[in-house]
Amino acid sequence: MRKPFIAGNWKMNMNNQSSSVLTESIVRELKQLGAERLDVAICPPFVYLHQVGKAVSASNVALGAQDVYYKADGAFTGEISCQMLKDIGCTYVIVGHSERRHVIGETNELINKKLTAAIHNGLLPIFCVGELLEEREARKTKAVVTTQIKKGLAGLDQEKVSAITIAYEPVWAIGTGKTATSAQAEDVHKMIRGLIAEMYGKRLAENIRIQYGGSVKPTNASELMAEEDVDGLLVGGASLIKDDFIAIIEASWRAK
Ligand code: PEP
Repeated sequence: MRKPFIAGNWKMNMNNQSSSVLTESIVRELKQLGAERLDVAICPPFVYLHQVGKAVSASNVALGAQDVYYKADGAFTGEISCQMLKDIGCTYVIVGHSERRHVIGETNELINKKLTAAIHNGLLPIFCVGELLEEREARKTKAVVTTQIKKGLAGLDQEKVSAITIAYEPVWAIGTGKTATSAQAEDVHKMIRGLIAEMYGKRLAENIRIQYGGSVKPTNASELMAEEDVDGLLVGGASLIKDDFIAIIEASWRAK
């Protein structure tokens, strides 16, 4: 039985005050909802991890970071290590988000190093994969996602991979308002689960959580979550609006 998992990715948004206000109100509403059947995480920018961590500390909401570097310490100006994220109370870390792949230029090889370091240090990675619009139109979705998964997980054994949540995020659906249909999402999620079964066996494939991400809103969350292989949602824009994020969590909770 896979526990549904909803994560909010704030990206490069919010400020000192609004990050605390939003987190506190999410925590308050979730307490009333009593949605313990779900895992919920908030992933703010690095500079707000401390205060968001404080605001979620007495709740079921977990803290996540949006990225990490794979080295432990040293001369890596501007980077943040796994140890630093653990130190500040992070449970999760997003690795390989499409904006890091396509805006910053991260490669599958770098993402593999980050995943390896994160797991080694006790962080739970949310490993993002997904195709560009032109790749979908050229019917390359499965090939692209397969390569991202094989290269991203290279050298990781079954036990290590069991720490990972995979997030399928078609790049053409991220921040565009264009959501994949639930059938399109299910199709790729099923393929990913089959690939994990081939690589690591049926048991791990049945237990690994696969989130969908890409313009998730309160209006499409329940349809997506009703799909058999959609175990959670990675929410960008809508996680910045308290009522929308809560409505997505509530819809997900009812759908499973
Ligand atoms: C994301 O940031 O991972 C994301 C899916 O963004 P949005 O929900 O805004 O499309």
